Amino acid sequence: MPPETYDIAVVGGGTAGCFAAAAAARDGLDVALLERKSASEGGHIACGDAIKGTSTFPDVIDREYLREESFTNENIQRARFENPKTGENLDIGFGDASGAVVDRKRYGEVLLEEADRAGADVHYDTVVQDVVQNGAVTGVTATARGSVREFEANIVVDAAGSLSLLQDRTDFEETTFDTNVNYQQFCSAYREIVEVPEPVEWHDAIVFKPASELGYLWYFPRTPTEINVGLGFQMNKPPMKLVEELKRDLRTRPEFEDATVKDKLGAALPTRRPYDSAVAPGYIAVGDAAGHVNPCTGGGIPGAAK
Ligand SMILES: Cc1cc2nc3c(=O)[nH]c(=O)nc-3n(C[C@H](O)[C@H](O)[C@H](O)COP(=O)(O)OP(=O)(O)OC[C@H]3O[C@@H](n4cnc5c(N)ncnc54)[C@H](O)[C@@H]3O)c2cc1C
Repeated sequence: MPPETYDIAVVGGGTAGCFAAAAAARDGLDVALLERKSASEGGHIACGDAIKGTSTFPDVIDREYLREESFTNENIQRARFENPKTGENLDIGFGDASGAVVDRKRYGEVLLEEADRAGADVHYDTVVQDVVQNGAVTGVTATARGSVREFEANIVVDAAGSLSLLQDRTDFEETTFDTNVNYQQFCSAYREIVEVPEPVEWHDAIVFKPASELGYLWYFPRTPTEINVGLGFQMNKPPMKLVEELKRDLRTRPEFEDATVKDKLGAALPTRRPYDSAVAPGYIAVGDAAGHVNPCTGGGIPGAAK
């Protein structure tokens, strides 16, 4: 197959890739958005689902549509910090502001729809395997439903998330791109979506508790009966048994008796400072691929959107 030519090839249809693709397409550029997942799996991404709101999101997408479709709990008024040593809770109110918890799959689907509506060509089932490089990066190769495809572009946007494969494939010698990256600067995280029989009392709170290693457990209510429960820890020690620790903690909480697990997913996320430089000739990394995550909270959606 001859190469397909675009102004911009965005690799990864998560938050960073969709906003980048929508922004470039709205500027009149020809954009390919390459996503390894199928159209039905697109947007299904491991996340705690907690965000402040859409007000800081660039308006290259319909933010109101995103809010209506995916913000399942817009009434988060406080953060609760549990002290496992004393059993006490510290509640910190958000004052006039409020936070939200989203249906992350629907949120991701809407972003993909919006990138498409902005004019980007969204290619699902397209797994980018390599970069094409001749001094500058000039494109990528991918496998798509059994065939090899090449996408030529003036700029490749690496929005492939944490531990991006593209960064293993690109020769950054002679560029400013930050390659001083190692796995200890990442966090390993896991979450379940759990349905509880009765509404939880803390449906207006995001709840945090320290994990046994450097990291925390969270309980974020998507609705009063659908809770995103999870935990993450910094990978500067031998792997922590995330699922076991989560199960242990769930057993101490009466509201999770007779709960049903609806979905499970885990992933790594960067908990380091943003890359000193995330650019090389023909190449720019965004979102998790550029370390744009708040290293204290692990919140990466705002950094990926901007
Ligand atoms: C368990 C967990 C909980 C979290 N909780 C929160 C939270 O509550 N609030 C918050 O703000 N942040 C949270 N984060 C962080 C947040 O999810 C990320 O920072 C954010 O999703 C980053 O967006 P991104 O677009 O850079 O990457 P991603 O969302 O990871 O998207 C990358 C996309 O690239 C695709 N891709 C990867 N490789 C290829 C390839 N080779 N070819 C084609 N496509 C490819 C993937 O399929 C994916 O769609 C959490 C992260 C984890 C792991």
